[in-house]
Amino acid sequence: MIIKPKVRGFICTTAHPQGCAAHVQEQIEYIKDQGAIAGAPKNVLVIGCSNGYGLASRITAAFGGGANTLGVCFEKPPTEKRTASAGYYNTVAFENAAKAEGLYAESINGDAFSDECKEKAIALLKENMGKVDLIVYSLGAPRRQDPKTGEVYSSVLKPINEGYTAKNLNTDTLTITDITVEPANEEEIVQTVKVMGGEDWELWIEALKEADLLAEKCNTVAYTYLGEKLTWPIYGHATIGKAKEDLDRAAKAINEQLAPVHGKANVSVLKALVTQSSSAIPIMPLYISLVYKVMKEEGTHEGCIEQLYRLFTEGLYADAPRLDEQNRYRMDNLELRPETQAKIEALWPQVTEENLFDLTDYKGYSEEFLKLFGFGWDGVDYETDTDPMVEGNFK
Ligand code: NAD
Repeated sequence: MIIKPKVRGFICTTAHPQGCAAHVQEQIEYIKDQGAIAGAPKNVLVIGCSNGYGLASRITAAFGGGANTLGVCFEKPPTEKRTASAGYYNTVAFENAAKAEGLYAESINGDAFSDECKEKAIALLKENMGKVDLIVYSLGAPRRQDPKTGEVYSSVLKPINEGYTAKNLNTDTLTITDITVEPANEEEIVQTVKVMGGEDWELWIEALKEADLLAEKCNTVAYTYLGEKLTWPIYGHATIGKAKEDLDRAAKAINEQLAPVHGKANVSVLKALVTQSSSAIPIMPLYISLVYKVMKEEGTHEGCIEQLYRLFTEGLYADAPRLDEQNRYRMDNLELRPETQAKIEALWPQVTEENLFDLTDYKGYSEEFLKLFGFGWDGVDYETDTDPMVEGNFK
């Protein structure tokens, strides 16, 4: 079939296998160009391995540290008539590249929140990889079924206490209008914490510990975003921010669990950039387009892979990592520089539909969005008949 992007709101329902492979390859090359990472882990489990920050974590571990990796993701396989999801093609491309270098790389396509998935991961680790020295927790999920009670929780993206009205870019129509988001009720807050908080991260570490699969001095990290004034009402001080605060609680609890193996758990604060998860958050597409504009002009722009390389070299495996008062690695330091935020805040009220492409880097944002699904890559012939049926070796 001829595979073209089909964008519906903040999601693209098609993906291009060769384009996704090009995306993975570009990140592999970036990491290889940086040279080997000193002290890097050798056996890594990445939960949420197929897109965005989790995929970049896996690539950094494998190609910067020569690590064997087990990945967990939740992706749609292809059919004769429909393409797979981008994360499916990304994972196949990653595994092929890793195996070509003699690295162990296997992936589970299943619900990371379930007991079944954890049991499968443990069996695979026991059989093929042994104890893990890094566990990356990088899920971006809208809902979670509690494995013990069977109850299904859904997350919401809403402010807390008061409603919020802000400028929002509709990425389908390129119109800018004010949107009002009503505040979440108590139940919605609880449900969002259940989905995006730290409970499942703790369950993973507990299960690995029980199975004696935690290596001496193992690390585990979960990702968060904090942001600043412009995004606080919908992120930092909103339902998702509450869920992310729960990661700080979980990190403390996990640190206790890891004491016998002298391991450590940290939250890492990463910068805002376009991924499948962030494009779904109101305000974020416009905010990120401004971040890109300002940071590209400053020469401080980074994508997922640059952030992850810094997390490994300035955080996880640095002799003197930069941690904040909550024991978090701060890789958002460039985005949150006061001068950078001041420029973004000054531009924010000036943006209109007419000047969108001048005042912001919406062009860069939208090109990068399509690239997440494998579209817009040099060297890929998008007019050629392409077989969506790429074979995966998922467990
Ligand atoms: P993403 O949408 O690119 O990737 C999400 C991953 O989670 C995919 O691999 C997907 O397959 C997996 N996943 C989702 N539900 C699953 C399930 N039930 N079982 C197994 N796998 C599942 O997301 P992202 O933007 O890379 O976000 C990853 C983490 O980074 C999140 O915690 C997010 O809050 C955080 N973060 C993102 C940003 C940003 O701007 N994108 C900034 C800072 C922190």
